[in-house]
Amino acid sequence: MSTIKADVSSGIAGKQITPSLQAHIYCNRLTGSRLYYYQYPNMADLQICRTCGAQHSSSSIDELKNECPICLDPRQYVPPTGQAWTTLSDLRSSGYKNIFHAMDAAETSTANLIGIRTEPQVAIGQTTYLVRTSEGNVLWDCISYLDDETVGAIKGLGGVKAIAISHPHFFAANVE
Ligand SMILES: [Zn+2]
Repeated sequence: MSTIKADVSSGIAGKQITPSLQAHIYCNRLTGSRLYYYQYPNMADLQICRTCGAQHSSSSIDELKNECPICLDPRQYVPPTGQAWTTLSDLRSSGYKNIFHAMDAAETSTANLIGIRTEPQVAIGQTTYLVRTSEGNVLWDCISYLDDETVGAIKGLGGVKAIAISHPHFFAANVE
């Protein structure tokens, strides 16, 4: 995993982005913490694998050697047409949106379990689940597509206190 330097001086500037740090940054964006604003330059231009939906820590396909480690794992696959990439910038200008659906109530405003998925489908069609509790909300897994509307909607539902990622297919856009 390569190192990305923050564009302003901060406690995380220049640190290697580990999965736990990625989740911390993601969580802090959703909770509105100042840490998010020590963001990495051109974050929306980081490459996202079109096959598995993982967002990687570089905007350069050359730097990534045109390889997605998740797709290279024997449990996944690289498509016969080869590795393909996109970015959040591309997706945001292509009409994608996230759909919130209450799993245990008629309305999302009163639901304790909310599924969030992207339309049209991105990668394998990951769904993330927002679990709302009196102790704070947990986001179970991540999706690849995020926009300000989604972040605003999640904040309106109480934000996110913690993120759980069940397996590599759901790392998705946890950097963002
Ligand atoms: Zn991949």
